[in-house]
Amino acid sequence: MRLADFDPDLAALAPALADVRHDLHQHPELGFEEVRTQARVRTWLEERGYTPRDSAGTGLVADLHPSLADDTPVALRADMDALPIHERTPLPYRSVNDGRAHKCGHDGHTTILMGVADLLARRREQLPFNVRLLFQPAEEGVRGGGARVMVAQDALQGVREVYGLHSWPGYPKGEVRVRPGAMMAQVYTLRLTLTGKGGHGSQPQLTRDPVVAGAHLVTALQTVVSRGLGYEGGAVVTVGRFIADGSHNVIPDKVYLEGTLRTFDPAVTERVLERIRTIVAGAEAMFSVQADLQLEPGYPVLMNDAGCAEAVRRAAAQVVGEAQVSGAGLPMAGGEDFAYFAQAVPGAYFFLGAKRPGEDTPVCHHPDFDFDDELIPVGIRMFLALVLDRGKR
Ligand SMILES: [Zn+2]
Ligand SMILES: [Zn+2]
Repeated sequence: MRLADFDPDLAALAPALADVRHDLHQHPELGFEEVRTQARVRTWLEERGYTPRDSAGTGLVADLHPSLADDTPVALRADMDALPIHERTPLPYRSVNDGRAHKCGHDGHTTILMGVADLLARRREQLPFNVRLLFQPAEEGVRGGGARVMVAQDALQGVREVYGLHSWPGYPKGEVRVRPGAMMAQVYTLRLTLTGKGGHGSQPQLTRDPVVAGAHLVTALQTVVSRGLGYEGGAVVTVGRFIADGSHNVIPDKVYLEGTLRTFDPAVTERVLERIRTIVAGAEAMFSVQADLQLEPGYPVLMNDAGCAEAVRRAAAQVVGEAQVSGAGLPMAGGEDFAYFAQAVPGAYFFLGAKRPGEDTPVCHHPDFDFDDELIPVGIRMFLALVLDRGKR
């Protein structure tokens, strides 16, 4: 089979898929709450001869050929969850779930994999190998890590390689971005409580001021990258929250700081963590405050296997053309729980550019963001090209 063999069916299916995408968009659900989405996908799969099984609660795993599942050359993943954002777009299919919205395009990713499921099912007899479809809950943020749960529940049992994609308005539409090695960041959350001794703002000599200690630390933590690492850097340290609940004449007892760390290499991660601990310990001594420092690991580095990244490049050369494929702008400092799939078996994750020319296309997580329906066939053809490339071995 050739990729072009799917094209007539894909063209016929495209309007129905746009409807599916709009329906998913209209009914967004947060991580591990994707009950309606799961039901919608389950029905779609069953109507096409699949026997999907639940995974990670609100996720689904489906095999094209269950009898060949012990040796599955390729698995494809879509994330399904939405974000706790209020939708303010005038779209006719805007969210009906208050405070929930598909602002990362996972509605589009889910639709792409549903489209792949349809087109593969029509050619089941011509494809003498298994393809596993992974509909994953809970990729986003604090509730996230659906991928880790699916891996723990053997969703990749028998799988040789796994692929995932994301639309990205930071890159021009029509491009595919991929690279071997680090693709997205190791995430850590920093939480720091500094306890001193509060008092009257007019008599600081009787206090141990945690506000000054915290302010010093916000600045000092910026030297972790600028002075703790070489010129190539390779890390992000951001403090995004600073709570000091005193007043104009009250020095509080405590302040609270929260931030995020992003790294792409275990050695750099260790160096960054060590520098932060040292700097915080130094501030304790310098300002006579007590520090409770928590460095909480989030998603690991998303590492693309070299061979799998090369397979994505080959697929992209067919789908968008050789000149439109690059690793520019990578790795990206975002976190992505596809990392757990790619830790379990070789895999690759790639971006579909979504920035429309001459337009300030809203980025992911922006309240005005909406997935671009024209990327549905692009994503489907990318996945199908990978299926043909990896299945024929
Ligand atoms: Zn997101
Ligand atoms: Zn996302």
